Amino acid sequence: MAERYDVLVVGAGPAGLAATQAAAGYGARVGLVDAQSTQGGQVWRRDVRGAVPPDAAAAFRAVANLPNLDWLAQTQIVAATQNELLVEHDARARSLRYDKLVLACGARELLLPFPGWTLPGVFGAGGAQALVKQGWPIAGKRVVVAGSGPLLLAAAATLKKHGANVLGIYEQAAPAQLAAFASRLWRWPAKAAQAVALRAALAGVTYRAGAVVAAAHGDAQLRAIELRIGKQMRQIDCDHLAVGYGLVPNVELAELLGCALDASGRHPRVAVDADQRTSLANVYAAGEICGIGGRDAARIEGAIAGHAAAGAMQAAQAMQSARRRARRFSALLEMHFALDPRVRELATDDTVVCRCENVAWSALRDFDDARAAKLQTRCGMGACQGRICGTALAELGRYARGGLRPPIFPARLATLADSDFASIENQTAQ
Ligand SMILES: Cc1cc2nc3c(=O)[nH]c(=O)nc-3n(C[C@H](O)[C@H](O)[C@H](O)COP(=O)(O)OP(=O)(O)OC[C@H]3O[C@@H](n4cnc5c(N)ncnc54)[C@H](O)[C@@H]3O)c2cc1C
Repeated sequence: MAERYDVLVVGAGPAGLAATQAAAGYGARVGLVDAQSTQGGQVWRRDVRGAVPPDAAAAFRAVANLPNLDWLAQTQIVAATQNELLVEHDARARSLRYDKLVLACGARELLLPFPGWTLPGVFGAGGAQALVKQGWPIAGKRVVVAGSGPLLLAAAATLKKHGANVLGIYEQAAPAQLAAFASRLWRWPAKAAQAVALRAALAGVTYRAGAVVAAAHGDAQLRAIELRIGKQMRQIDCDHLAVGYGLVPNVELAELLGCALDASGRHPRVAVDADQRTSLANVYAAGEICGIGGRDAARIEGAIAGHAAAGAMQAAQAMQSARRRARRFSALLEMHFALDPRVRELATDDTVVCRCENVAWSALRDFDDARAAKLQTRCGMGACQGRICGTALAELGRYARGGLRPPIFPARLATLADSDFASIENQTAQ
């Protein structure tokens, strides 16, 4: 039987928690769904070693024990229509109906192929941070952190706190770009304070701009990486490499629903108006799904979406200037951490691009259409459903990600055999 909610929120990160708190405050019946077992999203992922940060603790407290809230943990969205989501929970299919939907699905890391990137010991920067927070032992291991964006500092600080020997942080953006970013940071005092705290936590660790990991070497395990710094090459022996090139909004669910996307930036994001309303009248979106802007922007946009979804337009409008200010920071990030074109030229003929289906660059580079590449090579047909390889190929300038069909995440056959799935899939196909 389907559950019905006045407001259904997908994603329990900073944006989704703020939306939940706002909407539930008006007495609406709210459902909060997340694939993870705990609330907090990416930035407030529980750390086995650390205390919960005060802002996270306040956000968790604000939605704890609300009588009008259903917290649906470990619940994965499989398919969607404009008033219903089919989800998988406890190995069972469930149907969730809604009047208003708030999408707060966040972002994922951008991973780009280079020789050796599939070796055991190579991780995404945020991926390594998440594993370590959950207890993966890193103490004493020699780790290089590389790629691009402020996440490198946050990841390196977590690894160091857990005892890793962080050999260096290598940022691809040029030194002049970084200096320009730092010189404008004072306009966002909370961000500037966060950057200062991270640099203090990383005292003694090399931070180098204009440096790119060109290759990773090893047999069954990573042994060393090759760095290109300007025109020079340098080898560093290490046990692990944590490398990520920034974040990409998780727009797949919005796309499946038919929400318009804004393709004007580096990666597609969900297009919203000032009240966080998407192109669909009953669907709102907030946080990194609308563009990479950090947790402050996510909190503000989440609250606006929650107020607006509950019909409290005045409260939503009162937050507009805070929203504009937070979004100016997104523009700053996008401008100063733009990718050096050389990062897109690292893959060689035999570099695997689609890890799920083991498809090499040589088999992909002559396609200019995602569907043809998928049909002829199986690229994008594995467990990640093209989230990693499709995004990387779009970044390498080959072709845009292909169209989406449910299920958008791998699901059990019993879920797909459910009659609700069949009816939702028919509606999506029409
Ligand atoms: C790996 C990683 C690590 C990061 N670490 C830091 C950090 O240390 N410090 C920092 O300042 N910023 C960090 N960030 C940036 C961070 O994402 C944002 O600042 C902030 O968390 C954005 O909040 P959000 O609510 O928009 O999204 P998120 O926090 O990403 O929350 C989105 C939530 O939606 C859920 N979700 C998504 N799709 C579905 C679906 N289909 N079904 C069910 N649930 C779904 C996810 O499980 C997730 O819990 C990190 C980002 C990533 C990707």
